[in-house]
Amino acid sequence: MRYAVFGTGIVGRTIAAKLAALGHQVVVGTRDAEATLARTEPDSMGNPPFAQWHNGHPQVRLVSFAEGAGGAEVVINATSGTGSLDALTAAGADNLAGKVLIDVANPLDFSAGMPPTLNPVNTDSLGEQIQRAFPDTKVVKTLNTMNCQVMVDPSRVAGEHTVFVSGNDAEAKDQVTELLLSFDWSEAGVLDLGDITTARGTEMLLPVWLSLWGALGHADFNFHIASA
Ligand code: NAP
Repeated sequence: MRYAVFGTGIVGRTIAAKLAALGHQVVVGTRDAEATLARTEPDSMGNPPFAQWHNGHPQVRLVSFAEGAGGAEVVINATSGTGSLDALTAAGADNLAGKVLIDVANPLDFSAGMPPTLNPVNTDSLGEQIQRAFPDTKVVKTLNTMNCQVMVDPSRVAGEHTVFVSGNDAEAKDQVTELLLSFDWSEAGVLDLGDITTARGTEMLLPVWLSLWGALGHADFNFHIASA
């Protein structure tokens, strides 16, 4: 499968590396490939510059959002929540039309410092905003409620735990579920919450996730929905 992973941060890198390791064709999308490769400073989260990661993954090309979307069968949005709509607009509605778009972004607003706030929230979600902006694209929200290392390696967390899936298109959710199973999620761990409006709830788990991160002192944990 041909994937375009939008985002040069730790999430985009982690997902792109996993997809490449599984044998998929992968490109990473960015605003300006030359500028991204020229960065020499760690990013705001302290991750090494993208070029360092890229040296270890030379098979993953760095391309513009538009080139990435144009050549991909599936697009994964791992850009910052505040930049996601701009990134996808740059990708182009025509390039995204008819395709599955996996949205792992969270609408975290750090403009007033820590902890971040959510925008949109309550009556809307980033997943819905993206679906409204690109009605011909099949948006599936998933993986946004855990650390990126857990996304691609659920065995980092002991026992059964849960990955939520939200989206309007049943076939697209089936396709995304297949991808999750290839990441070694168990069938029992994948929980389809319903249409894309259910992304409100998973995005609103982020304040809880951040509190747990502080309380536990590490990010290798996840939510587990136990049910009768
Ligand atoms: P990030 O720093 O949140 O985002 C970096 C990416 O966003 C870069 O590719 C950047 O483009 C792009 N970007 C930023 N502003 C933009 C704008 N105005 N227009 C277009 N693109 C823009 O990276 P991250 O820490 O890897 O997180 C990615 C997403 O995953 C976020 O939404 C985050 O909330 C979510 N998430 C993170 C984790 C985790 O484990 N950290 C877990 C779950 C969900 P350039 O490449 O051009 O700089």
